[in-house]
Amino acid sequence: MRAYNFCAGPAALPTPVLERAQQELTNWHDRGLSIMEMSHRSSDYVAVAQKAEADLRKLLNIPDNYKVLFLQGGASLQFSAIPLNLLGKNTRADYVHTGIWSEKALKEAQRYGDINVIEAGRTVDGKFAIAPQSEWQLSDNAAYLHYVDNETIGGLQFDFIPDSNAPLVADFSSSILSAPLDVSKFGIIYAGAQKNIGPAGLTIVIVRDHLLDQARPDIPSILKYSDQAKNDSMVNTPSTFAWYLSGLVFEWLLEQGGVEAIQQVNLQKAQLLYGYIDQSDFYANPIALQNRSIMNVPFTLKDSNLEKIFLKEAEGAGLLNLAGHRSVGGMRASIYNAVPLQGVQALVAFMQDFAQKHG
Ligand SMILES: *Cc1c(COP(=O)(O)O)cnc(C)c1O
Repeated sequence: MRAYNFCAGPAALPTPVLERAQQELTNWHDRGLSIMEMSHRSSDYVAVAQKAEADLRKLLNIPDNYKVLFLQGGASLQFSAIPLNLLGKNTRADYVHTGIWSEKALKEAQRYGDINVIEAGRTVDGKFAIAPQSEWQLSDNAAYLHYVDNETIGGLQFDFIPDSNAPLVADFSSSILSAPLDVSKFGIIYAGAQKNIGPAGLTIVIVRDHLLDQARPDIPSILKYSDQAKNDSMVNTPSTFAWYLSGLVFEWLLEQGGVEAIQQVNLQKAQLLYGYIDQSDFYANPIALQNRSIMNVPFTLKDSNLEKIFLKEAEGAGLLNLAGHRSVGGMRASIYNAVPLQGVQALVAFMQDFAQKHG
């Protein structure tokens, strides 16, 4: 039996997707070989790759003037690729700082440009929140404005899309496909696959055409969006298996009714878990209501000495990977698209029992 997996990443994948991959694994569509053993230039593989892109475009309603790139190196390599691609002439960029991932992004960018850091985290009534944009000091002439939609470690999510004259560049690693998104508001949306898309090893970059040609001349060709776009993300061998499996996840999402439908389930899951935490005096969540992540729910126990027992007993109950990030401790339940409502119901029931026993 499969357990419920609350890992932040690499994260849960839909069971039907894994079963289909298993079925196709050794002999893909009767071709006598697996998808992993095929040339990425073969017509069979190219069709798989194109179908995945078409389905992602459908799911997110991506306009035609955007390229969709299937790259490697994780979201972390995009922390460098973005300034290398966008700071060719104008080297000024605005970076909104709300947590650990936005900090990593801005530290990389500082190697290439003149980075204006906007400190947008603040504490209100003991809860962490995002400061409204009216309090941000934006540059007049930035090449772009970067922010992280969902801080996976802190469990802090934007409840608005910033308003900006400069193109918006956003890390959606842990929130892409969890809810509908107006792509046309963005210059670049990027996401590592291993949270809410597919296996590790693939990074999706959605980039508006007019941003393709402002790269620094010393940018490696593999990182250069215009080169990747011209070569259908195949400047070199792409992560073929991760691309294929992500395509199966896109098909599964479309079968679920698309992003609008999965958002309803996600909201139900989040309301159930936060609702329980809020009415309990044994558990607590540190984030202000309006900025609570729908995908990553950190929580603490009344007595931190109980954390080890909590994790051990949870594992015994088939509830895996509930430890918070090593940098912050506590607990964290990541409830991405592939974690079903029943998983969150089982978690809440376990938390109730545990609080009764130890409270
Ligand atoms: C996980 C994560 C990253 C890092 O992703 P890698 O693929 O490991 O480089 C960056 N940003 C956010 C928001 C993340 O959740």
